[in-house]
Amino acid sequence: MKIAILSRKTRLYSTRRLVEAAKERGHRVYVLDPLRCYMNITSHRPGIHYRGEDLRGFDAVIPRIGASITFYGTAVLRQFEMMGVYPLNESVAISRARDKLRALQLLSRKGIGLPVTGFASKPDDIQDLIEMVGGAPLVIKLLQGTQGTGVVLAETRKAAESVLESFLGLKESVLVQEYIREAAGADIRCFIIGGKVVASMKRQAREGEFRSNLHRGGTASGIRITPEERSAAVRAAKTMGLNVAGVDILRSNHGALVMEVNSSPGLEGIEKASGKDLATMIIQFIEENASQGRIRTRGQG
Ligand code: ADP
Repeated sequence: MKIAILSRKTRLYSTRRLVEAAKERGHRVYVLDPLRCYMNITSHRPGIHYRGEDLRGFDAVIPRIGASITFYGTAVLRQFEMMGVYPLNESVAISRARDKLRALQLLSRKGIGLPVTGFASKPDDIQDLIEMVGGAPLVIKLLQGTQGTGVVLAETRKAAESVLESFLGLKESVLVQEYIREAAGADIRCFIIGGKVVASMKRQAREGEFRSNLHRGGTASGIRITPEERSAAVRAAKTMGLNVAGVDILRSNHGALVMEVNSSPGLEGIEKASGKDLATMIIQFIEENASQGRIRTRGQG
């Protein structure tokens, strides 16, 4: 097969591993920077150009689109879909997962366990917003944040009020969430391929920190997940419409709570923690599904 990987950098671990795995299985693979793709939007023959060349003949495309380029990146992916190229994850599914409010609303509609969450842009009554999610301590998240930046733990109501006032004063939309203390600085990342959890890891925040992001000094280890956690992760990915996803779960006193569904989950931490060759599993998934032409939306919606 001829496979495109949409990624800004060839040397990123996940991109490198996918290239390696694809080559090993006899495919031709090209890493394309989505920002350098330019497109011709005509009804008869949609096309994409890259460095003066007309991109044709691809069987599959693997989107590895960073959060900061979601808008343009999903437009490029949509163009591939319109050309009939099989996307590992479809552009609509990525857009759903990237929009944190939309994602939480869709998950709650399906009855998937979530931390009690409020969101606001310009509330006149901050007290009421705090009350709505059960009071302090609570977690406040900027809608734009990634890798733990813009995620604040407010231990007291006073702290929550002042953080909320300053974020909202900066005209940022925020999520306000119950703090799951019993998670004790840990969360579980479930890696999903084709509706199955194929690997999982526990991420533990370093001492004195509640955010377990590996970028913030968290450590990863293998973990056995419960059937309830497995089912929550699978349902969350399915609700987004993602074939490949990283679902983050908090272990709470009232069960598994889904925190986020990641549409471009990194491979490095989880391949190391689980000892699994996820890159090859992804390529195998593409081999099975691209040949059957299993594209749901072809750029619709
Ligand atoms: P980002 O998407 O920027 O990584 P997250 O929402 O995943 O932000 O939060 C970062 C980390 O903070 C999580 O991995 C988790 O360890 C911790 N965390 C987030 N929300 C909560 C919460 N409601 N209760 C307890 N810990 C939380």
